[in-house]
Amino acid sequence: MDIIVLRPGVTSKEIRHIVKKLEDMGFKANISKGTERTVIGVIGDTSKITEDEVNSFGAMPGVEKIHRIIQPFKLASRDFKAQDTLIKVGRHTIGGKRVHVMAGPCAVENLPTLLKIASEVKKAGATFIRGGAYKPRTSPYSFQGLGELGLRYLAEVKEKTGLPVVTELMDPRDIDEVLRYADIIQIGARNMQNFRLLQEVGSYDKPVLLKRGLSATIKELLMAAEYIMSRGNHNVILCERGIRTFETATRNTLDLNAVPVLKKLSHLPVIVDPSHGAGKWDLVAPMAKAAIAAGADGLLIEVHIKPEEALSDGEQSLKPDNFTVLMKELRAVARAVGRTI
Ligand code: PEP
Ligand code: MN
Repeated sequence: MDIIVLRPGVTSKEIRHIVKKLEDMGFKANISKGTERTVIGVIGDTSKITEDEVNSFGAMPGVEKIHRIIQPFKLASRDFKAQDTLIKVGRHTIGGKRVHVMAGPCAVENLPTLLKIASEVKKAGATFIRGGAYKPRTSPYSFQGLGELGLRYLAEVKEKTGLPVVTELMDPRDIDEVLRYADIIQIGARNMQNFRLLQEVGSYDKPVLLKRGLSATIKELLMAAEYIMSRGNHNVILCERGIRTFETATRNTLDLNAVPVLKKLSHLPVIVDPSHGAGKWDLVAPMAKAAIAAGADGLLIEVHIKPEEALSDGEQSLKPDNFTVLMKELRAVARAVGRTI
């Protein structure tokens, strides 16, 4: 049920208009007159009311505001599906008791480096290799990624290590290639509201790791998930990766509130990327531990053999030895909150 709050001094003619509009749409109106305010409870399946229809009610004379009880996201919502969604990727399940750590370089640079990083993170306990072949760089003059060659390197590393691949898709024109090589398609923060791209990945059943936009609200993140799910692909993993705030001490502000909030609002698995969230390698470990403690189902962590020589995001990349120490500590945190790694 949704609630329409009326302005003080609303006329009975205005109320009649609102009630008529609701009844014409197949709803019943429950008018409740308080001492200061009159409200109308809308009875019926209000999940079918669109945002545009809500706005048209909001513009009617006498209406002050509208409270939606049912969220605008449906398929992504806990109201729609109470049990946690489990996403199968090869022999792994994301969203269950086990916490998955997806680790690797920001960008795929060359085969020997990728292979070395992958075998190190695997040894430490990571279950996925991450690495971008298509990189959304702020400057067009920065390294843009190796493209399809990078995807082929990822496939080769997968074959050698057995680690499934998480890699970013930036453009629907590359979808066939990325589908061929990726086990999980990453949609980056900058593309969270690229609705055509979301619809495109929604047309397949390949799992999608959807990163929160730089200045997206939690509701907008869930609406972006809804775009993918409404096309039929329900295998969506949400990722908190930090948002823009006034704070300049860190690259972004990692919003760990988002983890329990998303878990409450949605049944989808939630992972955290402390590398982009913090932007500095020495902040990654404390935030990774905090993320698991907050209930995250996994982590996305940048690791590089030589961060000082990385072609992107070296300043936030862990070296394999620090990553190995972190994995040990994460096991203890996971145990404390009833999870395993
Ligand atoms: C990345 O994972 O390397 C990346 C570009 O992340 P984001 O889209 O969150 O900035
Ligand atoms: Mn990066």
